[in-house]
Amino acid sequence: MADVRLSGVKKRFGATEVLKGVDLDIADGEFVVFVGPSGCGKSTLLRTIAGLEELDAGEIAIGGRSVTGLSPSDRGIAMVFQSYALYPHMSVYQNMAFGLTLAKTDKAEIDRRVRAAAAVLNITDYLDRKPKALSGGQRQRVAIGRAIVREPQVFLFDEPLSNLDAALRVRMRYEFARLHAELKTTMVYVTHDQVEAMTLADRIVVLSAGRIEQVGAPLDLYEYPANLFVAEFIGSPK
Ligand code: ADP
Ligand code: MG
Repeated sequence: MADVRLSGVKKRFGATEVLKGVDLDIADGEFVVFVGPSGCGKSTLLRTIAGLEELDAGEIAIGGRSVTGLSPSDRGIAMVFQSYALYPHMSVYQNMAFGLTLAKTDKAEIDRRVRAAAAVLNITDYLDRKPKALSGGQRQRVAIGRAIVREPQVFLFDEPLSNLDAALRVRMRYEFARLHAELKTTMVYVTHDQVEAMTLADRIVVLSAGRIEQVGAPLDLYEYPANLFVAEFIGSPK
C-alpha cells in the first residue's frame, strides 16, 4: 500500500505544455478518479505516475519515496490500459503468470498469486482457456489479473472499460468497486464517463487543459462545483 504525491508536475510535448503544474496528494488506499474532456492530459498524468513519461518539472513520490529516475517496474505500480493485449497462444493462467515468470518468481508463489487473483476476479473456471474463447468482460478480467498478481502498491487504470459495450461497462464498474473493497490498494483510475467516476471514486480530480480544476468527493463536486467548467462537465449527460 502506498500514498502518491505529485508536486508541480509539468510535461510538454514539443511546443504544447500538456501538464501545467499538477499538485495532488492521493492517500494510501484511496480510489481516485481523473476526469476531464478528451486531450486534457488524463493519460499523460497517469503515465507520469507510472514512469512512462519523464517530467519536465516537479516531483512524484510513491509510498514516501521519490520515484524520479525509477523505471516503471521499480515503482510498485501496475497499469491496465484500455486496449489490453493478451497473449493469444497462452492460456489465461499463463497470461497471468507470464510477468512473474520473467521476474523469476518462485513457481509455488506464482501459482498462489494466480489462483488468488483468479478467485477475486471470478475467472477460476477459465484458467485453462485461451483468450479467444473468452468474452470481452472475461478478457478484461484477465488483464486486471495480470496487474493483481504483481501485488502492486498502486493500481493505475486508463479507461479500462471503454472498449466494452454499455451493459458490460456497468457490470464491470461494480467489479472495480468490489476489487477495491477487497484489495484495499490505492487505485488511480482515468475515465471520461462521469457516472463511472461518481460510482467509483473516493475523490474525483477534474482536469482541464493540463490543470486541476477541482478535487473532491463525488457529492461535493456535484453539489458545490468550484466553477462553471466543473459544473458543466460533472452535470452534463454523456
Ligand atoms: P486525455 O487522456 O485526457 O485524452 P492525453 O494525456 O492523452 O489526454 O493527451 C493530452 C495532450 O497531449 C493531447 O493534446 C495529446 O495530443 C498530447 N499528447 C499526448 N501524448 C503525446 C505524445 N507522446 N506526443 C505528442 N503529444 C502527445
Ligand atoms: Mg487518455
